[in-house]
Amino acid sequence: MSKPSIYLDYNATAPIRPEARDAVLRAFETAGNPSSVHASGRAARDIVETARAQVAALVGVVAGSVTFVSGGTEANALAIGSAAFAGFNRIIVSEGEHDAVLETAAASGLQVLKMPLDADGVARLDWLEEALSDEGRALVCLMLANNETGVIQPVAEAAALVRAADGWLHVDAVQAAGKIAVDFSALGADTMALSAHKLGGPQGVGALVAGTRATIVRQQHGGGQERGRRAGTENVAGIAGFGAAAEAAARDLPAMANQGTWRDALAERVKAAGAVVLGEGAARLPQTLCLAAEGFASQIQVMNLDLAGVMVSAGSACSSGKVKASRVVEAMGRADLAPFALRVSGGWASSEQDWISCGDAWLAAYSRIGARRREVA
Ligand code: PLP
Repeated sequence: MSKPSIYLDYNATAPIRPEARDAVLRAFETAGNPSSVHASGRAARDIVETARAQVAALVGVVAGSVTFVSGGTEANALAIGSAAFAGFNRIIVSEGEHDAVLETAAASGLQVLKMPLDADGVARLDWLEEALSDEGRALVCLMLANNETGVIQPVAEAAALVRAADGWLHVDAVQAAGKIAVDFSALGADTMALSAHKLGGPQGVGALVAGTRATIVRQQHGGGQERGRRAGTENVAGIAGFGAAAEAAARDLPAMANQGTWRDALAERVKAAGAVVLGEGAARLPQTLCLAAEGFASQIQVMNLDLAGVMVSAGSACSSGKVKASRVVEAMGRADLAPFALRVSGGWASSEQDWISCGDAWLAAYSRIGARRREVA
């Protein structure tokens, strides 16, 4: 019997949605550059503008608020670079932020302050309020949902504090968009990062959404594309796929709740075997589970599940594929569990059986490891 192929690593990259694949292929049939005035150029421009409206609709903004970029990393960098240009002299980042935010903030030359997380992985707004009362206007970076734990952050509450202090709130919504409803205005964000490949679009395309209080300053120079906010010929096919994926993700949002039910059933099984679910006391994305079982190293879990045909991630994997102890789990005060964190993340094409099979494979591997440890002892 061939081993199953079960993909539960959507937070790394979601499989491409059929609507997105079709849109990409259709766009490839169009030869033009969206900046050209001839018929083919206008056709390419139409593709880009249709996608802009689709992405805008996903987060409840007008199309003109959306700037297409190369992905979530660039969207975060464009926001942070723009804030630095606007004269903000300090950046407050939550300890749960993705490296795309943390490293860009560190490289900005501005003072960087880290907002701690509580035991459930939620950013401490009492700390933020105090930090904002200090001298100097701040850019605050608070993600909407964490990539490792799925924990949803109190962004709207943070926005009220940031507004009162005349700051700028940047929200990395790369993991949240397409998994939960995201309303840019209701959240009170000034800027927001999105990425196509996390919601079933192609890799290498994303967007920065900007409200009226934020001035976006291009970080690379050249042509006047994206209304002067981002130089370089647009990735027309990628943008087409992003738009189609955004529309499909918005349509499929109600079905995401099923992922939560199946995720929780898996959580109960692994907890009964002795694992801990991280961030369990907080609101979380419905399709993300971060678990840890002492003595069962992240990398060993990933390898054992892979051998059983189940693809998941360690809590944190860097681009070299090496597994580091999860710094998000450490920031939650569970450094003891950080080397053992495992992330299981489903999405639009995941079935109940996928979650059950993942549980079967995990429990089998865990009991093998336990038996081996008992032999050694
Ligand atoms: N922000 C978060 C929260 C992410 O999870 C990721 C990707 O893992 C990124 C940003 C970077 O997005 P991209 O891969 O599109 O550059």
